Amino acid sequence: MPSRRRFLQTLSAAALTLPVMPLSVMAGNTEQPYQGPVLRVALMGLGGYATLVARGLESCQRARLAGLISGTPEKIRSWSEKYGIAGKNCYNYENFDQIRDNKDIDAVYVITPNALHHEQVLRIAKAGKHVICEKPMALNAREGQEMIEACRRAKVKLLVGYRMHFEANTLEIVRMRQAGELGKIRFFQGLSGFRIGDPGQWRLSKQLAGGGALMDIGIYAINGSRYMVGEDPVWVAAQETKTDPQKFKAGVDETIQFQLGFPGGAVASCLSTYSMNNLDRFFLNGDKGFAELQPATGYGPIKGRTNKGELALPHVMHQARQMEEMAGIILENKKPLIPVDGEEGLKDLKIIDAIYQAVQSGKKVSLKL
Ligand code: NAD
Repeated sequence: MPSRRRFLQTLSAAALTLPVMPLSVMAGNTEQPYQGPVLRVALMGLGGYATLVARGLESCQRARLAGLISGTPEKIRSWSEKYGIAGKNCYNYENFDQIRDNKDIDAVYVITPNALHHEQVLRIAKAGKHVICEKPMALNAREGQEMIEACRRAKVKLLVGYRMHFEANTLEIVRMRQAGELGKIRFFQGLSGFRIGDPGQWRLSKQLAGGGALMDIGIYAINGSRYMVGEDPVWVAAQETKTDPQKFKAGVDETIQFQLGFPGGAVASCLSTYSMNNLDRFFLNGDKGFAELQPATGYGPIKGRTNKGELALPHVMHQARQMEEMAGIILENKKPLIPVDGEEGLKDLKIIDAIYQAVQSGKKVSLKL
């Protein structure tokens, strides 16, 4: 098991032992059983992260696990038994286009290695189902654009699995910034990394991951810089360091530092790495105050403080909260405070493309998002 996953799963298991606010209470719905619409979701790729999403779905009111897509018959057998999924709602990677005729499934959540997202999302859109796609949405901006267009043509929604966009302490900082409580934003720092284990895993394959740490964990600092600063960057500069070229082969980045410039004059300084642990920190500085999160993007509980004191909003399992909110977005057209649509995923891909370009050229790259 990759060390990050083990680390994050340990955190997650620990989080489950802490007092966790039930979604029913969160929704202010303690007496009446929920009777509104329910998003019926099929999970594609039954690996480590899908396991957490399935667990999250167990406590959702507005979303539930309704189908399975996997290339491993044994997983289909054990998962369908565990979650009570009928055989007619189970597919493999060859036949999942038939989901088009399945009236029991509204959306497919793609949780496979990064390089597979593009083709899988195109096929799901063609089958007429809404799509939730894990981050990074694709390998590059061209693929991301094609996915957006395919979903638009098919009149289905495309969302990206940005779970932090629904996390309470994160949202409190965004609220403070929007209310002007931090003043004019001047600086953001995003540190995102962990020490990766097994050299044979897909995350260290250029072909399946599309890159290295930046695609997998650095994207949290990229995405975070935008929702924390509240603007999209207009330039990027980047520098790469590689200490282990055996493990991190050509095209697989180990460590990249990057800087972003925002139209209002704020700058961001970020680090993305596969070779350091305990690196999950956001810091936002404005003329009137500051906000800090550490851990900022792990599975929680997220901890932080601002110039006004500790941030201590209750922990809700991220995957449960995300699925509950995404059901509202897909079924009731709700608008989240921080967008999670394909355009949002595409912006991050454009920044990733520009960071790799800046590493290659050694020059600042202009961005137009
Ligand atoms: P994983 O290796 O645990 O699971 C991947 C699954 O895809 C496995 O079940 C595997 O069998 C399946 N698969 C299908 N085709 C494959 C192929 N050709 N090669 C390898 N595996 C194949 O990975 P994961 O950690 O679950 O990550 C899956 C996706 O989820 C990635 O895009 C990753 O970035 C994303 N992710 C997101 C978060 C988050 O917090 N939002 C956390 C972890 C992973």
